[in-house]
Amino acid sequence: MQLIWLRNDLRLHDNTALSAATARGPSVALYLLSAEQWLAHDDAPCKVDFWLRNLRPLSQALGELNIPLLIRSAPHWDDAPGVLVALCNELNIEAVHVNEEYGVHETRRDTAVSQALDASAVAFHHYLDQLLFKPGSVLTKTGTWFKVYSQFRKICHARLQGALPRLVAPPKAQAPMAIDSDPIPEQIPGFDTPSAQLRALWPAGEDEALRRLEYFAQAQIHCYQDERDMPAKPGTSQLSAYLAAGVISPRQCLHAALQANQGEFDSGSVGAVTWINELLWREFYKHILVGYPRVSRHQAFRPETEAVAWRTAPDELAAWKEARTGLPIIDAAMRQLLATGWMHNRLRMVVAMFLSKNLLIDWREGERFFMRHLIDGDLAANNGGWQWSASTGTDAAPWFRIFNPLSQSAKFDPEGLFIKHWLPELAGLDSKDIHNPAAMGGLFAVAGYPLPIVNLSQTRERALAAFKHLPASPDGCRGIT
Ligand code: FAD
Repeated sequence: MQLIWLRNDLRLHDNTALSAATARGPSVALYLLSAEQWLAHDDAPCKVDFWLRNLRPLSQALGELNIPLLIRSAPHWDDAPGVLVALCNELNIEAVHVNEEYGVHETRRDTAVSQALDASAVAFHHYLDQLLFKPGSVLTKTGTWFKVYSQFRKICHARLQGALPRLVAPPKAQAPMAIDSDPIPEQIPGFDTPSAQLRALWPAGEDEALRRLEYFAQAQIHCYQDERDMPAKPGTSQLSAYLAAGVISPRQCLHAALQANQGEFDSGSVGAVTWINELLWREFYKHILVGYPRVSRHQAFRPETEAVAWRTAPDELAAWKEARTGLPIIDAAMRQLLATGWMHNRLRMVVAMFLSKNLLIDWREGERFFMRHLIDGDLAANNGGWQWSASTGTDAAPWFRIFNPLSQSAKFDPEGLFIKHWLPELAGLDSKDIHNPAAMGGLFAVAGYPLPIVNLSQTRERALAAFKHLPASPDGCRGIT
């Protein structure tokens, strides 16, 4: 008998490990509940709830193929080897199949599981699935990991044009087994159930993920380039939660985008090309996580930036977290995050730069807060996005190019529609005043909206000074660029 151990791959279709296991013979599926580990990783309650909600339709779909889904508890990943060995002995399992996961803890867990299974004469097979390319297989000519996204992307394009990763056939029905699926818990202690409104925004299941992909590829992808930066428009796919939980695969996304663009990677629809390149940003940051493990240990990609004198400013940090900075675009974005578990990409960059530059608060504070609230929280993408914004990361925003939240607001939410949606107390302001009510003098007080917590130009200068005098980077570059 085969065991498929499901993790962030909660789908039946195009699931490499699942199809490989079932091709070998009768299979059972397993999912581990790891509450302590999830808490230690700052996994958001809405994300944990999303996993549970997706397990239900998956269990049903597997059940229709007579593949039972077992649920076991391994509170910490250190418990995983013992739980797996016990289950393999109980069910007389020949081999365990998993899709690879990346990150220091994930790798340590899988190594320990593989060794424990080996000692019990159970095979452990792992497959590339979460990514298009195996980390370590896309390297520079001199055999080093890419640090520059555009160079990484160029190689990816060339390889994909040569051989597109195929979709994996779904598993076939097997003969019924005398093993029942376990019920999926409603809730995990330590993780509050999110609001019904939040849940309704992110319906569970592969059907929903495929519906979103199909709609986006047919109706929206060609406008992606023009609308992706406008938070008031539904210009992006909103697939990140499904990709992060593995309810849909990057291969499925890539195939749909290529189909919408007659198979072209770098010509044809600009929107489709840009969207494929975003899938490759996802790929890039996961490769960075493996190539430079320090980023998954809370360290800056650029070691010299560890010398930045981050401020301890608990009141300002709290105002940022609680959406009361007095800067409408920042507060609207933070309200979106708190209410929906998601934030528009443009605004993730704007609020991250505001925290790390204008407030000069350590990017790790923001990274952790995002992780605790995002339904799509993903270590590689979140860390990559934060280190990009804080200019501490690979291929990051240059330290001297600091977004001004007011001009970002006027440029990307020109009518203030996004702000008005999330800050209804400002709904009466016109499209000029809405970005900066403080500039109206006394009138802002009528709305009961706070004054900005900082002066943007002074804090910009402070950030520039903090980065300007950093020591040279270890690879010989003068400071950071
Ligand atoms: P689309 O624009 O439709 O893009 C399609 C897919 O490509 C996304 O679903 C995502 O999987 C991937 N993608 C797009 N942009 C990026 C990017 N810049 N980096 C990596 N992958 C990308 N994304 C996460 O999935 N999880 C996170 O925890 C996360 N944290 C972030 C934190 C910060 C500070 C920043 C600046 C960005 C972060 N991102 C994160 C990237 C990006 O904001 C989201 O992937 C995107 O907003 C999701 O919306 P969408 O599915 O509509 O994206």
